[in-house]
Formats: sequence, C-alpha cells, structure tokens
Amino acid sequence: MTFSPPESVDVVIIGGGVVGCSTAFHLAEAGKSVLLVEKSAIASGSSSKAAGGVRACFSDPVNVALGKRSLDLLADIGTRPGGDIDLHRVGYLFLCTTSEQMNEFGSAVEVHNSHGVRSSMIGVEQVHQLSPLANVDDVVGGCWSPDDGTCTPEAVVQAYAAGARRNGALLLTNTEFISADIRDGHIRSVEIRSGEESAHVSASSVVIASGAWSKAVGAAFGIDLPVEPVRREIIVTGPIAGVDPAVVARSPMTIDAASTFYFHSEGRGVLAGFSDPSVQPGFDLTRDPSYLEKLVELASYRAPLLVNAEVTGGWAGYYEVSPDHDGIVGRSSDVGGVFYATGFSGHGFLQGPAIGEILRDLILGREPSIDIAPLSNDRFSAGRRRDERHLV
Ligand SMILES: Cc1cc2nc3c(=O)[nH]c(=O)nc-3n(C[C@H](O)[C@H](O)[C@H](O)COP(=O)(O)OP(=O)(O)OC[C@H]3O[C@@H](n4cnc5c(N)ncnc54)[C@H](O)[C@@H]3O)c2cc1C
Repeated sequence: MTFSPPESVDVVIIGGGVVGCSTAFHLAEAGKSVLLVEKSAIASGSSSKAAGGVRACFSDPVNVALGKRSLDLLADIGTRPGGDIDLHRVGYLFLCTTSEQMNEFGSAVEVHNSHGVRSSMIGVEQVHQLSPLANVDDVVGGCWSPDDGTCTPEAVVQAYAAGARRNGALLLTNTEFISADIRDGHIRSVEIRSGEESAHVSASSVVIASGAWSKAVGAAFGIDLPVEPVRREIIVTGPIAGVDPAVVARSPMTIDAASTFYFHSEGRGVLAGFSDPSVQPGFDLTRDPSYLEKLVELASYRAPLLVNAEVTGGWAGYYEVSPDHDGIVGRSSDVGGVFYATGFSGHGFLQGPAIGEILRDLILGREPSIDIAPLSNDRFSAGRRRDERHLV
C-alpha cells in the first residue's frame, strides 16, 4: 500500500488532541473537507494526560464564557457527536486561606454570575460539608461552582474523532506535518510524511492545534507561537482506608488556591496533583521522585486521609505553556489561511470543545459566539498580557 492522501482539502488540521479533533468534528459537520494529521495516535499528546477537570470558574470573562460553552457541549456530547465521557458535575471548590483570596474569588464570582454561571462564595462549614476529606483548620471559606466537574479526557477526544470521521473527515495517524508552502502571503499546501513516504496536500486553511509542539510547527509557517512544554504529574490512589466510598465519589474537584494542590474522585480512590513551580520547561516526561514527596507533604496537611491510600498509578504529561499562562487562539496576521489554537497552560482540555466551534466559525467567516480577540498571538508583540488569576 502506498501513502496516498487526498491532493486537496478545504482544511488541514495539525494535531489529534482535543483541540484538533473538536475542530475537525465541527468543520466536517459544517460540510468542509477536512484532513487531520497526527504524528502519533489520536489523543496521545497532553489531552489524554489531563486531570479531566472541566470548569467555567475562571477570573477572566473570556475564559468563563469558553468554560461555560464547553460545559454545555460536553453535557450534550452523548447526542452530538455521540459517546460516553463519564461527565460528573460534582462541582469545583477552591479553598481560600486568606481574606485577600476571598475578595479575589469574590470578584470572580460576580463575573461568573454575569455569564449565568451559578457560583458563590461559601463559609468554612459549607466547605467542610462539600469536601469532607479537606482539612479546613486554616480555611476561611471557598469559591463553589456546582455545575463544574470532571470527565474522561481520552473519551472526549475519541468522541470528537469518531464524530469527525462520521461526517467525512480523514484523520491520518502516524502522519507528521513537515513543512508549509506559502505563496503571496497565503498558505497553498502542506507537506506531510508517513513512515518513509511524503506527500503534498493543498488547502485553503490550516489549523495549528499541535499542543506543546506548536512552537516548532508555527516556525514552519514563519509564525512565532511562544509555547513551551512543562512537565506536570498526577497520581491516582486506591480506596481511602476508613472513608465511606460514597463520600469520596461525591467529592468535588477540590483545589487549595495557594498551592494548587487538587484532588477529585477517580475510580475507588482519588486523582491528585499540583503544579510544581520548580519544573523547568523542556521535553522530558521522566517522572521525578521528588514530585511524589512534595505531593505527599501537601496532602498530609490539606487532605491527610489521602495519605492512607495506596498510590495505584500516575503519569506525566505536558502543559503547553504560554508567556501569560493563557490560550493563544486566532487567525495569523502574517500568513493568510493559517489559524492557531494552543498555549492553554493547564486549561486546554476543558476549552477544547468550545475552541473547535470557534475555529469552525472563523474559518467559515462567521461571527464566533465568543469574542476571542483577546487571545490573539498578536498580544505578545503588542506588549499586552492576559490576567487570568485562577490558574492550576
Ligand atoms: C497532568 C496534566 C493535567 C491536566 N489537567 C487538565 C484539566 O484538568 N483540565 C484542563 O482543561 N486541562 C488540563 N490539562 C491541560 C490539557 O491536557 C491541555 O491543555 C490540552 O490537552 C491541550 O490539547 P491540545 O489538543 O491542544 O494538545 P495535545 O492533546 O497535546 O494534542 C496535540 C497533538 O499534536 C500532535 N503533533 C505535534 N506536532 C505534530 C506534527 N508536526 N505533525 C502532526 N502532529 C503533531 C501531537 O502528537 C499531539 O497529539 C492537563 C495537562 C496535564 C499534563
């Protein structure tokens, strides 16, 4: 068999994670011919490494709107595109230990509520009721967002991939984007390779959805996408000795706002992690033994019963980090027909569904339902920075 992709499509998408597959689904459903190339397997990048947290409770209005729209799309995924993603709307609970944090999250609650997200600031007693595994000795209150929750990341990506295929998109795995042919300031074609064979595919639009690898992919188009890979780790535990499994199952995504230590129910135990600020950017997924030590230290204080549980698994993946820790989404102002969606810095899984819909609209020349102009890559050269304050 020889490698013979189509000679020409409307849109080439580079990357088969949540962003690429959601975009492929939305475009194919709208009648566009789509080729998605993935250098490895579908969902083999960061998307299948995510903690599965899905939320609208951010401080920035664009992120609130993207989170809310994604939650609506995820809630409906069983019928469109179809699939079971194990969505549990157990809520997000940020724990605050200072009055400054309470004020800070209180301002965000106003933003949430103005977007129809029904969050609220709650007192320490309610924090304890909602998340009994959390030690609340030094907690003064929390930000509670009951409609947020968790779902299974690879299931979301596969649901969009299957939906894209059903609508006629071609998804080529083990197929790498190599180079771009740009003429008169507009994309003409891309070179792709599978094994030893390569081919050129012409397209009027290309979407860079290449996650932690976006800097190199962007460079092939002459576009500077300032995205760095940063290793993030997760552990999964077995049952927690002495704790009713029903209590664990009901636990919201609970996050210590100061340290980013978080946990939520997973299987018969919990999934836990934190964003270690000492990790330097780089492509290296070797698990660091000191990470577990630091995590156990954080858990010993914030959720001491977790330390009774056996660690049954875990993994490392990349955050695709931008200079201001927020997504970079838009249309290239340097090369006509090139779109990018990357740099989500820890919240790309939950934004992927809405981002795919928005990229569809940008490519079709429609007004997107959410104005993503503030996420443009041009903000960096213009000296503007995003100010999302509720990062994990
Ligand atoms: C431990 C951890 C926990 C996280 N928890 C959460 C969470 O709870 N909630 C949340 O919203 N986010 C979370 N994230 C972040 C989230 O996983 C990412 O933001 C999101 O998955 C990015 O999706 P993507 O489609 O842009 O990238 P990816 O899923 O990485 O997909 C990009 C794909 O592009 C492919 N690619 C790259 N270069 C090429 C090329 N030249 N040719 C062809 N293909 C190429 C790669 O192989 C890859 O499969 C977490 C991340 C980690 C690591």
